Amino acid sequence: MLEQSQTRVLTCIQCGKCTGGCPEAGKTPFNIRMLVRKRQFKSSIDENIPWYCTSCGACTIRCPRDVKPSEMIIEMRSSFVEDGDIPVSIQKALENTSVQRNPWGRSRAKRGAWVEKLGFEVPHVSETTSKRLLFTCCIQAYDPRCMVIPVNVATILNKGGLEFGILGEEEACCGNEIRRIGESGLFEELQEENIAAFKEYGVQEIITLSPHCMNTLKKEYGELGIKVTHYTEIVAEMIKEGKIVPKAPYAKKVIYHDPCFLGKQNGIFDEPRSILKAIDGLELLEFSRSRETSLCCEGGGGRMFCEVETTYQRNSEVRVIEAIEKGAEVMATSCPFCVMTLEDPATEKGLAVKELSEILMEVI
Ligand code: SF4
Ligand code: SF4
Repeated sequence: MLEQSQTRVLTCIQCGKCTGGCPEAGKTPFNIRMLVRKRQFKSSIDENIPWYCTSCGACTIRCPRDVKPSEMIIEMRSSFVEDGDIPVSIQKALENTSVQRNPWGRSRAKRGAWVEKLGFEVPHVSETTSKRLLFTCCIQAYDPRCMVIPVNVATILNKGGLEFGILGEEEACCGNEIRRIGESGLFEELQEENIAAFKEYGVQEIITLSPHCMNTLKKEYGELGIKVTHYTEIVAEMIKEGKIVPKAPYAKKVIYHDPCFLGKQNGIFDEPRSILKAIDGLELLEFSRSRETSLCCEGGGGRMFCEVETTYQRNSEVRVIEAIEKGAEVMATSCPFCVMTLEDPATEKGLAVKELSEILMEVI
């Protein structure tokens, strides 16, 4: 892996397009073009620097030479992980995932507890005829703020007449963040465990609730022969087919924040917007930086588990200020990490942050 990365960095022409698209450039000591340069010359790198990267993917998408700077960062982190030169909170997240299969170290036995909040039964995926799996994601299985998302989405899918099941405590962390932290060994363990469960129960289709899970299951688990989608794709289709009808009006100005792992990394821009546009009375606003150029909220790439230098203005705050300037009353998004990072500054400034399913639940 390191050799591949070294070969790729040698093709860098120092055009700076990576830094031009990087959400950390300018305001922090992190400069991705310079890091590529340092890598070309095998110069040493301060162990704190790679943690600024949010794994948004903008550099890799923009690079004209296929250098894949975001992958280079993962490889740099890998060597720090191997040497144990990593922040204590990252170490803890890795240990927790190793034991409980989630970075927060919550009991694995409780991973499927969110279904108790539903007014109907959700079977184990093995008991479904469709073998369609709803993949919950760690933060949504345990965090009190995010647990509402699987509850909402399951309710909406059920209303639309879609059969699905869950893995409950047999689901392990997807590993998207673990891979980006640089712990490839643990990522492979999680991958093998999830794949074994998919095979054992004959899973044919996976609906993910988090763009981070969708990204890794779709692109980093090899050829599974399983269709992987984000729930917004399914719900947008259901609305189009009239299986779900938003009935009540929602007379609010809503601005949509594109999550990096859903939007720029996987091209899902229109489906979340089409769901919002189907709601009567809702006025959809756009950020100046939206879709492919959407500003990263800084919640990815392991940043949920480690604090970096805080003297600069967070992107989440930049986002909230712009949303308010545009007249938004609600900022909608479709990623649990975005919800968590955007909500603090938004609450401070009196702006509501809602995951898309929360708005939908109010109108169907
Ligand atoms: S965009 Fe690619 S080629 Fe240009 S400086 Fe960055 S890594 Fe090098
Ligand atoms: S992945 Fe995003 S945050 Fe990381 S170096 Fe690339 S552009 Fe910057």
